[in-house]
Amino acid sequence: MLISIVAPCYNEEDVIERFHAAVQKVADDLLPLGHDMEFVYVDDGSRDRTLTLLEQLAEHDPRVRYVSFSRNFGKEAALLAGLRHASGDSVVVMDADLQHPPELIGRMVELRDEGYDQVLARRSRRGDRFTRTLTARLYYRLVNRLVDVELVDGVGDFRLLSRRVVDAVLGLTEYNRFSKGLFAWVGFPSTTFEYENAVREHGSSSWSLKSLLNYGLDGLLSFNNRPLRAALHLGMVLLTCAGLYTAWIVGAALVNGVETPGYVTIITVVTALAGVQMVMLGVVGEYTGRIYYEVKGRPHFLVKATNVERTKDLIR
Ligand code: UDP
Ligand code: MG
Repeated sequence: MLISIVAPCYNEEDVIERFHAAVQKVADDLLPLGHDMEFVYVDDGSRDRTLTLLEQLAEHDPRVRYVSFSRNFGKEAALLAGLRHASGDSVVVMDADLQHPPELIGRMVELRDEGYDQVLARRSRRGDRFTRTLTARLYYRLVNRLVDVELVDGVGDFRLLSRRVVDAVLGLTEYNRFSKGLFAWVGFPSTTFEYENAVREHGSSSWSLKSLLNYGLDGLLSFNNRPLRAALHLGMVLLTCAGLYTAWIVGAALVNGVETPGYVTIITVVTALAGVQMVMLGVVGEYTGRIYYEVKGRPHFLVKATNVERTKDLIR
């Protein structure tokens, strides 16, 4: 059995060598059990020495494949490139920053041998800031109510996928990729095990509050049109309220004559309705924007350098 390790790398010069040493060690441990390994590193347009280091690693270790993007296309694109270039019977997807402990790969392979197609590592949130834990909890509760597939808190991109899962995911060609959801959508027998979260040793997480928020919105909007439906429902509720209120006002005016004009009521209603309309328009706009990107049909990434022959042919 060949196992591919897929790791997206963005400005990881501090850790990439140690990461490679760690996965090499795992490969040595798994070799006697009849498992070969290859390493697929995707340099996501790093601005530091990551690519140089990857080239060096590839020189010393023939099992290393690397693909380097022409610019930073984001982690989702890097993951996709990694999956496309992996040829293993199983593929382990993990971060290159050593936050996903390579020692766990052995356990994943064991579970794979038991017949699971997806083995997910679920990190405990210990050591995270309280606010981040709380927002994550609330978010997953909300999302799972709105989305068809089930997303689990703490399950990130550290997982083992069987060949048929990888092929299924590669068959989903959408431009807006939300991998967590795509993996869940594909299904097949899956199992989860828990591990202790490691604190990032070098560099800093590239997630800002804004990017987290956007990632969250992507998760909400990528899977179905329920937010559109919700907007429609809200509109109908508001319309009913407005109708009742109008009837009330007109009735009162007919019986009592027109009283002093309700300045406060008018301003409140106008601003509230304007706000609601903007939100609904935003929801519609989000979907239209997605259609716009899908219709353009642009590639998910462009490759600048690689040591994979078939991809090399494509860049020249
Ligand atoms: N990453 C990437 N492209 C990006 C941002 C991140 O390929 O634009 C990679 C990064 O090198 C790492 C993984 O994605 O291997 C996770 O990134 P990070 O550690 O910043 O995220 P976190 O661990 O906080 O989720
Ligand atoms: Mg990280």
